[in-house]
Amino acid sequence: MKIQSIRGTHDILPGSVELWQQVEATAHALFELYGFAEIRTPILEETELFARSIGTATDIVQKEMYTFSDSKEKQISLRPEGTAPVIRSYIENGLYREGMVHKLFYIGPMFRRERPQKGRYRQFHQIGAEVLGTDHPAADAELILMLRRFLRELQFHDYRLLINSVGCFECRPTYVQWLRGALQKFQTLCPDCRRRLEANPLRVFDCKNPACQELLHRVTPLLERLCPACIAHFDSFRRHLDQAKVDYQVAPQLVRGLDYYVRTTFEMVSDRLGPTQNALLGGGRYDGLSEAIGGPPTKGCGFALGLERFILLLSNQEELGASYVPPRSTVFLAYLDDRAFQECLRLAEELRAEGLSVTLDFEARSLKSQLRLADRTRALFTVVVGDLEIDSGQFKIKRMADGMECTVTRAQLASYMKEQGSATASQPAC
Ligand SMILES: [Zn+2]
Ligand SMILES: [Zn+2]
Repeated sequence: MKIQSIRGTHDILPGSVELWQQVEATAHALFELYGFAEIRTPILEETELFARSIGTATDIVQKEMYTFSDSKEKQISLRPEGTAPVIRSYIENGLYREGMVHKLFYIGPMFRRERPQKGRYRQFHQIGAEVLGTDHPAADAELILMLRRFLRELQFHDYRLLINSVGCFECRPTYVQWLRGALQKFQTLCPDCRRRLEANPLRVFDCKNPACQELLHRVTPLLERLCPACIAHFDSFRRHLDQAKVDYQVAPQLVRGLDYYVRTTFEMVSDRLGPTQNALLGGGRYDGLSEAIGGPPTKGCGFALGLERFILLLSNQEELGASYVPPRSTVFLAYLDDRAFQECLRLAEELRAEGLSVTLDFEARSLKSQLRLADRTRALFTVVVGDLEIDSGQFKIKRMADGMECTVTRAQLASYMKEQGSATASQPAC
């Protein structure tokens, strides 16, 4: 029986991977301008890390993690998100001892056993960044400015920025208690939300059930019950955005699905993703996260962007397709016999040393089928090699775009193709 990929996972083939590379390269270059350095953490972590950071009452920890026992009966999980591992590494490697702000970004796969749906996968990829060691609202705003620029550089403009404050450990518990009481009166809450009322009533704000959403618009949001320090922080965050002329909407319902957020939360949403589940990226502040996993008090904020959904939007596709496009080569070397094949192997290495991408056929097929292969690799040039070329040292180069031909010496081959490769087809070939 044919073995197939696991449900909820996908391949990224040549032809599609180029867009991924472009997005990743843009992140690398731009984030470095803002002082971020890349961090790579393991895909496997102790389950306890996520239980303590994301929260045991969340769907992620309760239902969605890939968790198993290793030989010592320790529970380990495939990471469902990137922030907790980064903080774990920050603590473990003693970065906090350096007494400075650390800016770290990551790109990599995450794993959640969710129901697969459009743009949602069980192995998905995130780009994320964390600013550790400051609670200044300008740090939160700077993340937004960086993201705005990131999206602009990738020509993506169809999004809105939503911001909110979810309070701190001073003001939130009082509100949560009040909210529990206020919501208990409503019989129309869905069964999921009834359960949420016990563990974490704030999570009710994440419910997509229209009846629940309707109720929530009638209760006083946390934003109106913040303590003075949280109000000051949120006002300052907004002032920094205003100064930079960033458009945003205050969204009091935006609490985000993870327990560790305090004060700032934000999302960039795109209506092109549909009316619900429209978040392209999200983030916020998590000042208590380090303590929750046994580290020293550390202030921090960050964001994560889901690459699959973003790539779907950038490529204007409905589904992430697995259509294959062979990589393009600059020159295809065709040969007439085995002597020429040997010569082509040597020539290919010489041309590659000059920075040209070279393809040739290994299967000693007819010249006609070799030239068909040249077409399929969309080679810019083809060179046919036989006794005549080897003995005379003169090689005929064919430019595939217009069929123009030109004869040059072996020594001139590389420089000729480099020059002509960037020229347009309407220019003379010789
Ligand atoms: Zn507060
Ligand atoms: Zn609900």
